[in-house]
Amino acid sequence: MTHQIAVIEGDGIGQEVIPAAIEVLESLDLDLEFVDGEAGDAVKADTGEALPQETYDLAADADATLFGAAGETAADVILPLRDAVDSFVNIRPAKAYPGVDAVRPETDLVFLRENTEGVYSGHEDDLSDDLSTLTRVVTTSASEKLAAFACDYVEDSDDHDGFSVVHKANVMRKTDGRFRDGVVGVADERGVETDEVLMDAFATHVCLDPEQFDVVVCPNLAGDVLSDLAAGLVGGLGLLPSANIGDDNALFEPVHGTAPDIAGEGIANPTATILSAAMLLDHLGYSEESQRVETAVESVLAEGPRTGDLGGNADTDEMTAAIVDRL
Ligand code: ATP
Ligand code: MG
Repeated sequence: MTHQIAVIEGDGIGQEVIPAAIEVLESLDLDLEFVDGEAGDAVKADTGEALPQETYDLAADADATLFGAAGETAADVILPLRDAVDSFVNIRPAKAYPGVDAVRPETDLVFLRENTEGVYSGHEDDLSDDLSTLTRVVTTSASEKLAAFACDYVEDSDDHDGFSVVHKANVMRKTDGRFRDGVVGVADERGVETDEVLMDAFATHVCLDPEQFDVVVCPNLAGDVLSDLAAGLVGGLGLLPSANIGDDNALFEPVHGTAPDIAGEGIANPTATILSAAMLLDHLGYSEESQRVETAVESVLAEGPRTGDLGGNADTDEMTAAIVDRL
């Protein structure tokens, strides 16, 4: 069966790292059909819309989407795109690779972040000249859905035994209490081991000793902040992939943005996007190919050629060619 992949380069280095990832995917000779869609600053300048309806529909109808980055229009592009794929969980691995300078080279974490509610659900109000409020939304259903995904995630893999649940239910008793009860309840029913960590304590412990954690399940805001913190531990933005998973659809994107300071020079590190493509393969059931891509990336990170952000002097094309070569 042909899988249709929506490909949205967007702006800045999106236009350099997405072609690199497509080159890697094409070299595998799988039954994938790539369909290009436009979004971002340039499209807005041309048409007045950062995310044309046809691009939204393309992502909604495809089996998966590979997205680069959008500049000024990022929020107008990525938020609706995540909605188009109906994603309820954001997967963000933070893994240090040999050959890359990392603050904590032993880091190997996967964050599973709730992706629909919490403080990002948009219920903010100005009540007076002096007062603004934000309503934090937490449902049992979304918490249980995330937990079910987390249980599948650890059960489907040989590398994980259980997961940590990060929350602050000692203070936010109702909202994080509901989140905690929902997540731990499902895990208990499924016989999946969990441990609970308060989110402030997690921030300290993950810096001091990341090895004590493995899969980390978080509410929306905590997952956003703590996964960025972990990104810092493993050596930077050029390396980190992510996935937004929905019931019938998914979107994969590097964690970094458009990198305007180096855009157009052909020197961007393609690793984050190629690893995002590896996550896409895994999601579509090509787990062996996904593993092969990660192994090839790992070997090029260790032996070179590497891009400038990693201390090397290769350009995007050279690093990509080396990865394809290893495959
Ligand atoms: P945006 O608003 O689009 O996020 P930004 O200015 O925040 O843009 P980022 O893309 O978030 O830029 O990158 C932050 C820094 O990390 C920049 O200096 C950028 O050059 C560097 N960087 C990010 N991604 C890469 C990459 N793939 N290769 C090399 N350097 C990168
Ligand atoms: Mg940025």
